[in-house]
Amino acid sequence: MSFTLYVDPGTCTANGACTTACPEQAITGGYGEIHVIGLDRCTKCLACLSACPTGAIRKAGPIKPRVPTAPVAVGSFGAEDAEGGMRRRRRRGE
Ligand code: SF4
Repeated sequence: MSFTLYVDPGTCTANGACTTACPEQAITGGYGEIHVIGLDRCTKCLACLSACPTGAIRKAGPIKPRVPTAPVAVGSFGAEDAEGGMRRRRRRGE
């Protein structure tokens, strides 16, 4: 099965373990920022998956969760942001 990797914004503590482990320099984000995996550079070697002490690196199948597209401060991307891409609100009268 095909998959991609992403950083769970609610679990990432921005400790930098994944950026250090990545041999492709595919992960951006400094200390204090939710990290972002650049899928154009990622070779799916899974080094970051085993390096992350908080389990923030996740696999995604065809349906990908909404995550920051660039590094943002830890705590600034909440659960509502993540769910916003998955849910559609029904308007009154529809
Ligand atoms: S799977 Fe490998 S190449 Fe992709 S982001 Fe993780 S460490 Fe980097």
